[in-house]
Amino acid sequence: MDYLWTPWRYAYVTGAAKTTGCIFCDAPNEGDDEKVRIVHRGQHCYIILNTFPYTPGHVMIVPYDHLDELHKLKPYAAHELVDLSQKMETVLGELYPRVLPETLEKTWKKIGEAFRR
Ligand SMILES: [Zn+2]
Repeated sequence: MDYLWTPWRYAYVTGAAKTTGCIFCDAPNEGDDEKVRIVHRGQHCYIILNTFPYTPGHVMIVPYDHLDELHKLKPYAAHELVDLSQKMETVLGELYPRVLPETLEKTWKKIGEAFRR
């Protein structure tokens, strides 16, 4: 495969709202995890769905600390980031043995439920 073509992301590329803050710092403080699509909160990191995913289950694991370089992440947060990545890999393997088109709302619900099991 030479190119990954995701036309549904065009709206994001051309119409993304300008924001003055940091979306990754703002999202956990929104107060509505479903609205901002946070599927799981850890102690030092959280997992959020990409609003314009390449595939269902396209998530980002984000530290609560606003840092510009990975080596600045405290060891306990780095460990949790890897722990959540491993758990997420397992969850995605169970939920999406193949690519299934679905809404973000359904993905948010499925992944959140899988993390609470
Ligand atoms: Zn930030």
